[in-house]
Amino acid sequence: MTLQGKTAVITGSNSGIGLGIAREMARAGANVVLNSFTDRDEDHALAKEIGTEFGVTALYVQADMSKGDQCRALIEKAEGCDILINNAGIQHVAPIDEFPTDKWDAIIAINMNSTFHTMAAALPHMRQRGWGRIVNIASAHGLTASPYKSAYIAAKHGVVGMTKTVALETAEEPITCNAICPGYVLTPLVEAQIPDTMKEYDMSREDVIKNVMLKRQPSKEFATVEQMGGTAVFLCSDAAAQITGTTISVDGGWTAL
Ligand code: NAD
Repeated sequence: MTLQGKTAVITGSNSGIGLGIAREMARAGANVVLNSFTDRDEDHALAKEIGTEFGVTALYVQADMSKGDQCRALIEKAEGCDILINNAGIQHVAPIDEFPTDKWDAIIAINMNSTFHTMAAALPHMRQRGWGRIVNIASAHGLTASPYKSAYIAAKHGVVGMTKTVALETAEEPITCNAICPGYVLTPLVEAQIPDTMKEYDMSREDVIKNVMLKRQPSKEFATVEQMGGTAVFLCSDAAAQITGTTISVDGGWTAL
């Protein structure tokens, strides 16, 4: 399978799932544009490493996905956008009556509004080039809920709804729009929570993973960033040309419960 000659823009891709997707896109031959809100030497070095490893053009573009104009500027600075992966996201956990308004606003802006802005900016480019793939990284929490994550769940349900709408608006064009709904994925962010949780519950690493973190994930295994990347690459393949306006759960059975 080759995505040679295509350029993939991946928001929030200097770590975790976004980075995993960027690597799988590059492995499939796509040029990649990495992004986050920081502008450090290591961000640019990361892009360079991927470019060298996979023999593709890889660029890092700083843009803050909480700001609509910067979301749109990312697409303009990307030097092409055949594939758009909306991945940037943050989380905050609190009961709704204690949920800080600034956290609510940031989650809605980064996890949901950015997707509106990047899609709006990318679609004219895709139409001009006569091909496009949009993959929005939602969550099992785009399909189900848990307590204390109101902003995240509202945003992810919003992303799933927006995905369906854009799919209908592009249905007669060679453009598709889908969402991946990951369950728990072992990213550096999740890995970092394990030692504290072990202390808090006085449990072994295995018990924390199985009985605390993966309580709702029937496979009792984390999904991996490579699996997210592989699913995104599949959604960009010819085999997926008639898959549009839907969600693909990569969640070890979570949403089957
Ligand atoms: P992560 O923290 O490793 O990655 C988040 C990325 O978003 C980072 O690259 C970060 O720099 C970037 N980001 C944050 N704020 C930004 C901003 N204002 N502008 C630009 N970039 C910004 O987390 P992750 O687990 O890799 O999460 C990636 C996506 O996957 C998120 O949308 C998250 O909701 C979703 N997701 C993760 C899991 C999981 O278990 N890890 C499960 C379901 C969905």
